[in-house]
Amino acid sequence: MPGDAILKLRDAKVWYPVTKGVFRRTIGHVKAVDGISLDIRRCETLGVVGESGCGKTTLGKAIMLLEQITGGSIAADMDGQFRELSSLTTPEKLRYRKMVQMIFQDPYAALNPMKKIYTALEEPLIVQGIRSREEREAILASAMEMVNIPLDYLFKYPHEFSGGQRQRICIARALETAPSVVVCDEAVSALDVSIQAQILNLLRQLQRERHLTYVFIAHDLSVVQYMSDRIAVMYLGKVVELADSTALYENPRHPYTQSLLSAVPLPVLGRRKRRVVLQGDVPSPIDKPSGCPFHERCGKCKEICKTVEPALVDRGGGHLVACHLED
Ligand code: SF4
Repeated sequence: MPGDAILKLRDAKVWYPVTKGVFRRTIGHVKAVDGISLDIRRCETLGVVGESGCGKTTLGKAIMLLEQITGGSIAADMDGQFRELSSLTTPEKLRYRKMVQMIFQDPYAALNPMKKIYTALEEPLIVQGIRSREEREAILASAMEMVNIPLDYLFKYPHEFSGGQRQRICIARALETAPSVVVCDEAVSALDVSIQAQILNLLRQLQRERHLTYVFIAHDLSVVQYMSDRIAVMYLGKVVELADSTALYENPRHPYTQSLLSAVPLPVLGRRKRRVVLQGDVPSPIDKPSGCPFHERCGKCKEICKTVEPALVDRGGGHLVACHLED
Protein backbone atom coordinates (compact mmCIF):
# COMPACT_ATOMS: atom_id res chain seq x y z
CA MET A 1 0.00 0.00 0.00
CA PRO A 2 1.27 3.50 -0.81
CA GLY A 3 2.60 5.30 2.28
CA ASP A 4 4.44 8.51 3.18
CA ALA A 5 6.31 10.63 0.67
CA ILE A 6 9.67 9.34 -0.51
CA LEU A 7 10.29 12.25 -2.93
CA LYS A 8 9.01 15.81 -2.60
CA LEU A 9 8.99 18.18 -5.56
CA ARG A 10 8.37 21.84 -4.80
CA ASP A 11 8.02 24.28 -7.69
CA ALA A 12 10.63 22.21 -9.57
CA LYS A 13 11.78 23.78 -12.82
CA VAL A 14 14.06 22.70 -15.64
CA TRP A 15 14.59 25.58 -18.05
CA TYR A 16 17.06 25.53 -20.92
CA PRO A 17 18.47 28.87 -22.10
CA VAL A 18 17.96 29.86 -25.73
CA THR A 19 20.96 31.87 -26.93
CA LYS A 20 21.61 34.02 -29.97
CA GLY A 21 24.58 35.71 -31.64
CA VAL A 22 28.35 35.50 -31.25
CA PHE A 23 28.17 36.35 -27.56
CA ARG A 24 25.45 33.76 -27.02
CA ARG A 25 23.11 36.24 -25.40
CA THR A 26 20.19 34.52 -23.64
CA ILE A 27 17.02 35.57 -25.43
CA GLY A 28 14.58 33.20 -23.74
CA HIS A 29 14.11 29.79 -22.12
CA VAL A 30 12.62 26.47 -23.10
CA LYS A 31 10.53 25.73 -20.01
CA ALA A 32 10.51 21.93 -20.17
CA VAL A 33 9.43 21.55 -16.54
CA ASP A 34 7.84 24.70 -15.23
CA GLY A 35 7.02 24.63 -11.53
CA ILE A 36 5.89 21.16 -10.49
CA SER A 37 4.93 20.50 -6.88
CA LEU A 38 3.90 17.02 -5.80
CA ASP A 39 4.80 14.20 -3.43
CA ILE A 40 5.73 10.75 -4.70
CA ARG A 41 4.60 8.24 -2.11
CA ARG A 42 6.45 5.14 -0.99
CA CYS A 43 5.30 1.96 -2.82
CA GLU A 44 2.91 3.76 -5.17
CA THR A 45 2.95 3.93 -8.95
CA LEU A 46 2.62 7.54 -10.04
CA GLY A 47 1.69 7.63 -13.72
CA VAL A 48 2.79 10.68 -15.71
CA VAL A 49 0.98 11.32 -18.99
CA GLY A 50 0.82 14.02 -21.62
CA GLU A 51 1.57 14.69 -25.27
CA SER A 52 5.12 14.53 -26.65
CA GLY A 53 7.13 17.52 -25.49
CA CYS A 54 5.06 18.13 -22.34
CA GLY A 55 8.15 17.62 -20.15
CA LYS A 56 7.44 14.18 -18.66
CA THR A 57 10.81 12.67 -19.65
CA THR A 58 12.68 15.78 -18.44
CA LEU A 59 10.85 15.42 -15.13
CA GLY A 60 12.01 11.79 -14.90
CA LYS A 61 15.58 12.81 -15.69
CA ALA A 62 15.49 15.55 -13.04
CA ILE A 63 14.39 12.96 -10.47
CA MET A 64 17.27 10.74 -11.67
CA LEU A 65 19.77 13.63 -11.38
CA LEU A 66 20.40 13.32 -15.12
CA GLU A 67 19.15 16.90 -15.55
CA GLN A 68 19.81 19.69 -13.08
CA ILE A 69 16.81 21.60 -11.85
CA THR A 70 17.07 25.34 -12.48
CA GLY A 71 14.52 26.36 -9.85
CA GLY A 72 12.53 25.01 -6.92
CA SER A 73 13.61 21.80 -5.22
CA ILE A 74 13.47 18.02 -5.29
CA ALA A 75 14.07 16.35 -1.93
CA ALA A 76 14.44 12.65 -1.18
CA ASP A 77 13.92 10.71 2.02
CA MET A 78 17.42 9.37 2.71
CA ASP A 79 17.57 7.37 5.93
CA GLY A 80 14.56 9.18 7.42
CA GLN A 81 15.73 12.69 6.51
CA PHE A 82 14.62 14.71 3.50
CA ARG A 83 17.68 15.91 1.62
CA GLU A 84 17.61 18.36 -1.29
CA LEU A 85 19.23 16.76 -4.31
CA SER A 86 21.04 19.95 -5.27
CA SER A 87 22.90 19.97 -1.93
CA LEU A 88 24.09 16.34 -1.98
CA THR A 89 27.81 15.68 -1.77
CA THR A 90 29.44 13.34 -4.33
CA PRO A 91 29.27 10.22 -2.06
CA GLU A 92 25.64 11.09 -1.23
CA LYS A 93 24.83 11.40 -4.94
CA LEU A 94 26.25 7.92 -5.46
CA ARG A 95 24.03 6.64 -2.65
CA TYR A 96 21.02 8.44 -4.17
CA ARG A 97 21.74 6.89 -7.58
CA LYS A 98 21.63 3.47 -5.93
CA MET A 99 18.27 4.39 -4.43
CA VAL A 100 16.71 5.69 -7.68
CA GLN A 101 17.08 3.80 -10.95
CA MET A 102 15.65 4.18 -14.44
CA ILE A 103 14.28 1.82 -17.08
CA PHE A 104 14.61 3.39 -20.51
CA GLN A 105 12.28 3.27 -23.48
CA ASP A 106 14.49 1.49 -25.94
CA PRO A 107 16.04 -1.76 -24.70
CA TYR A 108 17.99 -1.97 -27.99
CA ALA A 109 19.79 1.33 -27.33
CA ALA A 110 20.09 0.84 -23.56
CA LEU A 111 22.56 -2.05 -23.89
CA ASN A 112 26.01 -1.68 -25.44
CA PRO A 113 26.06 -4.07 -28.46
CA MET A 114 29.84 -4.62 -27.98
CA LYS A 115 29.55 -5.90 -24.42
CA LYS A 116 28.21 -9.15 -23.04
CA ILE A 117 25.26 -9.02 -20.67
CA TYR A 118 27.60 -10.03 -17.84
CA THR A 119 29.57 -6.79 -18.29
CA ALA A 120 26.41 -4.67 -18.70
CA LEU A 121 25.10 -5.96 -15.38
CA GLU A 122 28.41 -6.00 -13.53
CA GLU A 123 29.42 -2.39 -14.26
CA PRO A 124 26.80 -0.67 -12.05
CA LEU A 125 27.86 -2.90 -9.15
CA ILE A 126 31.51 -1.90 -9.59
CA VAL A 127 30.48 1.78 -9.70
CA GLN A 128 28.54 1.23 -6.48
CA GLY A 129 31.75 -0.01 -4.86
CA ILE A 130 31.03 -3.74 -4.57
CA ARG A 131 34.62 -4.96 -4.70
CA SER A 132 34.17 -8.69 -4.16
CA ARG A 133 33.75 -10.62 -7.41
CA GLU A 134 31.85 -13.40 -5.59
CA GLU A 135 29.41 -10.88 -4.18
CA ARG A 136 28.86 -9.30 -7.61
CA GLU A 137 28.27 -12.72 -9.20
CA ALA A 138 25.75 -13.65 -6.51
CA ILE A 139 23.86 -10.40 -7.21
CA LEU A 140 23.96 -11.04 -10.98
CA ALA A 141 22.60 -14.56 -10.48
CA SER A 142 19.69 -13.39 -8.36
CA ALA A 143 18.99 -10.49 -10.80
CA MET A 144 18.77 -12.93 -13.74
CA GLU A 145 16.52 -15.24 -11.75
CA MET A 146 14.30 -12.29 -10.80
CA VAL A 147 13.53 -11.60 -14.49
CA ASN A 148 13.35 -15.28 -15.51
CA ILE A 149 16.40 -15.35 -17.79
CA PRO A 150 18.71 -18.41 -17.58
CA LEU A 151 22.07 -17.72 -15.96
CA ASP A 152 24.17 -18.90 -18.93
CA TYR A 153 22.62 -16.11 -21.05
CA LEU A 154 24.91 -13.72 -19.14
CA PHE A 155 27.63 -14.59 -21.63
CA LYS A 156 25.63 -13.61 -24.72
CA TYR A 157 25.56 -10.29 -26.57
CA PRO A 158 22.47 -8.05 -26.69
CA HIS A 159 21.74 -8.87 -30.37
CA GLU A 160 21.15 -12.51 -29.40
CA PHE A 161 18.02 -11.56 -27.42
CA SER A 162 14.46 -10.62 -28.36
CA GLY A 163 13.11 -7.17 -27.46
CA GLY A 164 11.22 -8.55 -24.46
CA GLN A 165 14.30 -10.38 -23.14
CA ARG A 166 16.39 -7.24 -23.55
CA GLN A 167 13.90 -5.21 -21.56
CA ARG A 168 13.96 -7.93 -18.85
CA ILE A 169 17.74 -7.56 -18.74
CA CYS A 170 17.38 -3.77 -18.43
CA ILE A 171 14.95 -4.34 -15.54
CA ALA A 172 17.48 -6.69 -13.90
CA ARG A 173 20.18 -4.03 -14.29
CA ALA A 174 17.92 -1.35 -12.79
CA LEU A 175 16.91 -3.50 -9.80
CA GLU A 176 20.20 -5.24 -8.98
CA THR A 177 21.29 -2.35 -6.73
CA ALA A 178 18.04 -2.75 -4.72
CA PRO A 179 16.60 0.72 -5.44
CA SER A 180 13.53 2.16 -3.71
CA VAL A 181 12.33 4.25 -6.67
CA VAL A 182 12.31 3.25 -10.34
CA VAL A 183 11.58 5.76 -13.10
CA CYS A 184 10.05 3.80 -16.00
CA ASP A 185 10.29 6.07 -19.05
CA GLU A 186 8.03 4.61 -21.75
CA ALA A 187 9.35 1.24 -20.57
CA VAL A 188 7.09 -0.84 -22.82
CA SER A 189 6.28 1.42 -25.75
CA ALA A 190 9.01 -0.06 -28.00
CA LEU A 191 7.70 -3.62 -27.48
CA ASP A 192 5.03 -5.73 -29.20
CA VAL A 193 1.65 -5.65 -27.46
CA SER A 194 1.84 -9.27 -26.23
CA ILE A 195 5.33 -8.65 -24.79
CA GLN A 196 4.14 -5.39 -23.22
CA ALA A 197 1.67 -7.32 -21.06
CA GLN A 198 4.41 -9.69 -19.84
CA ILE A 199 6.72 -6.82 -18.90
CA LEU A 200 3.94 -4.86 -17.17
CA ASN A 201 2.97 -7.91 -15.12
CA LEU A 202 6.62 -8.51 -14.23
CA LEU A 203 6.97 -4.88 -13.09
CA ARG A 204 3.86 -5.20 -10.91
CA GLN A 205 5.06 -8.48 -9.42
CA LEU A 206 8.48 -6.99 -8.61
CA GLN A 207 6.83 -3.94 -7.08
CA ARG A 208 4.82 -6.13 -4.69
CA GLU A 209 7.82 -8.30 -3.78
CA ARG A 210 10.35 -5.47 -3.38
CA HIS A 211 8.09 -2.62 -2.18
CA LEU A 212 9.14 -0.42 -5.08
CA THR A 213 7.92 3.05 -5.93
CA TYR A 214 7.41 3.63 -9.66
CA VAL A 215 7.26 6.87 -11.60
CA PHE A 216 5.61 5.48 -14.71
CA ILE A 217 5.97 7.81 -17.69
CA ALA A 218 3.97 6.84 -20.77
CA HIS A 219 1.81 8.21 -23.53
CA ASP A 220 -0.40 5.08 -23.74
CA LEU A 221 -3.28 5.93 -21.42
CA SER A 222 -4.55 2.33 -21.14
CA VAL A 223 -1.11 1.17 -19.97
CA VAL A 224 -0.90 4.02 -17.46
CA GLN A 225 -4.35 3.20 -16.10
CA TYR A 226 -3.38 -0.48 -15.66
CA MET A 227 -0.18 0.38 -13.79
CA SER A 228 -0.90 3.50 -11.75
CA ASP A 229 -2.30 4.29 -8.30
CA ARG A 230 -2.30 8.02 -9.06
CA ILE A 231 -1.85 9.89 -12.31
CA ALA A 232 -0.40 13.33 -13.06
CA VAL A 233 -1.44 14.87 -16.38
CA MET A 234 1.18 17.25 -17.77
CA TYR A 235 0.75 20.04 -20.29
CA LEU A 236 3.57 22.39 -21.36
CA GLY A 237 5.76 21.56 -18.36
CA LYS A 238 3.02 21.81 -15.74
CA VAL A 239 0.75 19.36 -13.95
CA VAL A 240 -2.82 20.31 -14.84
CA GLU A 241 -4.59 17.42 -13.07
CA LEU A 242 -3.50 14.92 -10.41
CA ALA A 243 -5.78 12.28 -8.95
CA ASP A 244 -6.27 8.63 -8.08
CA SER A 245 -6.26 6.54 -11.23
CA THR A 246 -9.92 5.47 -10.89
CA ALA A 247 -11.15 8.99 -10.12
CA LEU A 248 -9.23 10.43 -13.05
CA TYR A 249 -10.49 7.89 -15.58
CA GLU A 250 -14.10 7.95 -14.33
CA ASN A 251 -14.32 11.68 -13.84
CA PRO A 252 -11.63 13.67 -15.68
CA ARG A 253 -12.15 17.31 -14.70
CA HIS A 254 -9.59 19.29 -16.69
CA PRO A 255 -10.62 19.90 -20.34
CA TYR A 256 -7.17 18.68 -21.49
CA THR A 257 -7.53 15.37 -19.60
CA GLN A 258 -11.06 15.03 -20.97
CA SER A 259 -9.78 15.36 -24.53
CA LEU A 260 -6.91 12.89 -23.93
CA LEU A 261 -9.23 10.29 -22.41
CA SER A 262 -11.89 10.74 -25.08
CA ALA A 263 -9.38 9.26 -27.55
CA VAL A 264 -8.99 5.99 -25.57
CA PRO A 265 -11.16 3.22 -27.09
CA LEU A 266 -13.68 1.59 -24.74
CA PRO A 267 -13.30 -2.17 -24.24
CA VAL A 268 -17.11 -2.66 -24.30
CA LEU A 269 -18.63 -3.52 -27.69
CA GLY A 270 -21.24 -1.01 -28.84
CA ARG A 271 -20.43 1.63 -26.19
CA ARG A 272 -19.26 4.94 -27.54
CA LYS A 273 -18.07 8.15 -26.02
CA ARG A 274 -17.97 11.66 -27.38
CA ARG A 275 -14.57 12.44 -28.87
CA VAL A 276 -13.18 15.84 -27.86
CA VAL A 277 -10.81 16.89 -30.63
CA LEU A 278 -8.11 19.35 -29.58
CA GLN A 279 -7.88 22.55 -31.61
CA GLY A 280 -4.54 23.82 -32.94
CA ASP A 281 -1.00 22.71 -32.14
CA VAL A 282 0.86 22.53 -28.84
CA PRO A 283 2.27 26.06 -28.25
CA SER A 284 6.05 26.53 -28.14
CA PRO A 285 7.55 25.98 -24.67
CA ILE A 286 9.76 29.03 -25.41
CA ASP A 287 6.81 31.35 -25.93
CA LYS A 288 4.06 30.05 -23.72
CA PRO A 289 0.59 31.62 -23.85
CA SER A 290 -0.37 34.00 -21.06
CA GLY A 291 -2.93 32.89 -18.47
CA CYS A 292 -3.91 29.23 -18.70
CA PRO A 293 -1.28 27.49 -20.90
CA PHE A 294 -4.10 25.46 -22.49
CA HIS A 295 -6.42 28.38 -23.33
CA GLU A 296 -5.59 28.58 -27.05
CA ARG A 297 -6.81 25.00 -27.54
CA CYS A 298 -9.58 24.82 -24.96
CA GLY A 299 -13.19 24.71 -26.13
CA LYS A 300 -14.36 26.01 -22.73
CA CYS A 301 -12.02 29.02 -22.54
CA LYS A 302 -13.39 32.08 -20.67
CA GLU A 303 -12.07 35.64 -20.66
CA ILE A 304 -10.21 35.14 -17.36
CA CYS A 305 -8.36 32.12 -18.81
CA LYS A 306 -6.47 34.37 -21.23
CA THR A 307 -4.82 36.44 -18.51
CA VAL A 308 -4.85 34.58 -15.19
CA GLU A 309 -3.08 31.26 -14.79
CA PRO A 310 -5.20 28.82 -12.75
CA ALA A 311 -3.52 27.23 -9.71
CA LEU A 312 -3.40 23.47 -9.18
CA VAL A 313 -5.84 23.15 -6.27
CA ASP A 314 -7.32 20.18 -4.39
CA ARG A 315 -10.97 20.12 -5.46
CA GLY A 316 -11.84 17.44 -2.88
CA GLY A 317 -10.61 13.95 -2.06
CA GLY A 318 -7.07 14.61 -3.29
CA HIS A 319 -8.27 15.39 -6.84
CA LEU A 320 -6.17 18.37 -7.95
CA VAL A 321 -7.21 20.40 -10.97
CA ALA A 322 -5.76 23.60 -12.48
CA CYS A 323 -8.77 25.12 -14.24
CA HIS A 324 -10.91 28.25 -13.72
CA LEU A 325 -14.07 26.22 -14.39
CA GLU A 326 -13.53 24.61 -10.98
CA ASP A 327 -13.35 27.93 -9.08
FE1 SF4 B 1 -9.87 25.79 -20.40
FE2 SF4 B 1 -9.92 28.00 -18.94
FE3 SF4 B 1 -9.84 25.65 -17.74
FE4 SF4 B 1 -7.72 26.58 -19.06
S1 SF4 B 1 -8.63 27.45 -17.22
S2 SF4 B 1 -8.53 24.52 -19.16
S3 SF4 B 1 -8.67 27.63 -20.75
S4 SF4 B 1 -11.50 26.46 -19.01
